[in-house]
Amino acid sequence: MTRMPVLFIGHGSPMNAIEDNAWSRAWAQLGRDLPRPKAVLMVSAHWETMGGTALSASERPETIHDFGGFPQALFDVQYRAPGDPALAQRAAELLAPQRTVQHPTRGLDHGAWSVLAPMYPDADVPVVQLSIDRGQPNAWHYEAGRKLAALRDEGVLIIGSGDIVHNLRAVNFRTGETPDWAPRFNEAAKALITAGDHQPLIDWESLGPDAALSINSAEHYLPLLYVLGAQGKDEPVSFFADDVFAAISMTGVQVG
Ligand code: ZN
Repeated sequence: MTRMPVLFIGHGSPMNAIEDNAWSRAWAQLGRDLPRPKAVLMVSAHWETMGGTALSASERPETIHDFGGFPQALFDVQYRAPGDPALAQRAAELLAPQRTVQHPTRGLDHGAWSVLAPMYPDADVPVVQLSIDRGQPNAWHYEAGRKLAALRDEGVLIIGSGDIVHNLRAVNFRTGETPDWAPRFNEAAKALITAGDHQPLIDWESLGPDAALSINSAEHYLPLLYVLGAQGKDEPVSFFADDVFAAISMTGVQVG
């Protein structure tokens, strides 16, 4: 079986699920170009847990509309990809001895379905979500990615869905203006990713004020660490949808 690539997707606004724009088109293109996955393991910014890691183990995950203030059309989206309890179990084995919880009813949040709807519009690729345990240090998330990398040889597409730069408090929704530090940190992060220099990205708190402003509450950044952890030695990386809008980076990273 071909080794699957690993993706980090800058998901931005949930509206990208239903809007035809450069970002959603780039994701759709990936869906067509990449080897067809047996299943997706999704690490989304929008499933945070405390004191443990959870896996979605539902056979039929519901579509969670975890946002407010968007048009009805977005609330009407039902992304009916099946779950994959066997994959949830397999991921738990790989993460052991770290204890994980199989969540029987957890659905798909918008960090997952807003990118999967353009990528796999027929919703025919099974999806399992992995929660982000905010009780764990940064290095733990990177290490989890390393452990999960074995899934790549089993036909599983690992996706981290977040934003390298994400600071809603700094977004000027009226002007959409981009503060200088946002593209500056995005470029700095990309340079480290290109160089395979992951340690500063894991210890992002030591990267200075640009990182502090860009990463802010960190839930959108942490999925990147799983993706980098799953990268093999000397494996190529490339970027897609490489764009900074307001204080949100849409930059995607493809490993392999
Ligand atoms: Zn988000």
